[in-house]
Amino acid sequence: MNALARLAAVVGCGLFPLAAAAADPPPRPNVIIIVADDMGWADLGCYGGRDVQTPHLDRLAAQGVRCTSGYVTHSFCSPTRAGLLTGRYQQRFGHENNPPFRPDDPQVGLAVAEKTLPELLRPAGYVSGAIGKWHLGAHPNFHPQRRGFDEFFGFLGGGHRYFLDTLAEQLAEVQARKQPNPEAISYCVPLERNGTPVEARGYLTDALSAEAAAFIDRHAQQPFLLYLAYNAPHTPLEAPPERLARFADVADADRRTFCAMMSAVDDGVGRVVEALDRNRLRERTLVCFLSDNGGQTEHGASNGPLRGRKGMTYEGGVRVPLLAVWPGTLPAGTYDRPVSSLDLLPTAVALAGATLPSDRTYDGVNLLPYLTGQRTDAPHETLYWRRDEQIGVRHGDWKLVRVGTRPAELYDLANDVGETRDVAAKHPETVARLTALYDAWRRDHIPPTFESPGRPRPATAR
Ligand code: CA
Repeated sequence: MNALARLAAVVGCGLFPLAAAAADPPPRPNVIIIVADDMGWADLGCYGGRDVQTPHLDRLAAQGVRCTSGYVTHSFCSPTRAGLLTGRYQQRFGHENNPPFRPDDPQVGLAVAEKTLPELLRPAGYVSGAIGKWHLGAHPNFHPQRRGFDEFFGFLGGGHRYFLDTLAEQLAEVQARKQPNPEAISYCVPLERNGTPVEARGYLTDALSAEAAAFIDRHAQQPFLLYLAYNAPHTPLEAPPERLARFADVADADRRTFCAMMSAVDDGVGRVVEALDRNRLRERTLVCFLSDNGGQTEHGASNGPLRGRKGMTYEGGVRVPLLAVWPGTLPAGTYDRPVSSLDLLPTAVALAGATLPSDRTYDGVNLLPYLTGQRTDAPHETLYWRRDEQIGVRHGDWKLVRVGTRPAELYDLANDVGETRDVAAKHPETVARLTALYDAWRRDHIPPTFESPGRPRPATAR
């Protein structure tokens, strides 16, 4: 099947109805979603990073679509993942915080009534694997394999130590503390494969990459979904000496380690692409790559020109590198209209020929017609964010930010991507319009069903 016919089949524009009817249906494309953790806007070469070295990701970006207004739905880890894997704003089901690491608590995790991407792809014949960081609940009810994935390799908490050879010693050290913190313990627990602890060796990022390549080799003969969620470059900042040596000229020690950690992620993406090439799957696989939130600039990340950082509703907290690569189907280039991590689920469901349940609202859209140029309107008129007392609304090029009881701020992103000039006073009608949109958006939400570790119930501005 040539590229045009395949494209027609996928976007459903029916250019070759007779040919499609006469021939066997094309094999369903594979979907790979790779998530980096706390990687900032300028932490990739192809997004303007100067001190990082990400040749594999830069090459991948050049072969596909580099989104310049890619957004996640939250400014930190778990809520974004909840939105990504359900295609719905996580506020709809009360997932606005990071679930504490509580293997005995069936209340803190991704709501079991939500349908996840692997669940939706299974009827279409997809095998699925989650590798890396889960962070959607540590109770058995929330285990990746209870939430739709066929296979899991990784850890259930919000992060992990990187040097696996000494994990037992690191765990003993944390447990020996006066008041051992469950979150700190979760960073040192053994990795698991399908519910069974395993003794993994080496550097964590490399171990996850090796698992991802093995998953592709193992399932090359059937359509698959691979969700590869690196915890790098999230803290703790830990990188092997040989990688650190590559960045000896980076003066800031945190940044040096961060760049070294990013280079391991980059090499991992290279191994994934290599596995696709080895199995001749490049043109049958959509690869998406994104960060789960903006960079934490206090720990080595760089958000380039964007204001703010992880945890904020300024662009630096929620606008992230987002790549969609599918040689032969998606044209190479940039896509500038706002797209969301919410869109990955409907996109994958559409290309799998699966269907979205009709009993709930989906906030994401199938991006394929937009990225191929079949549709020229915007996938989203408006995108929304809320983190405790901070809100954000992007409507066209306007961006409204409100922090606590401070007056609402308004920015014109077309001319001020760094959110440096608050023009709220000049455009009160726009402030009112975006505020009204926000008020309508939040109407369908339920209160948070759990709070982040160690935090009292947050003050909210809803
Ligand atoms: Ca994160």
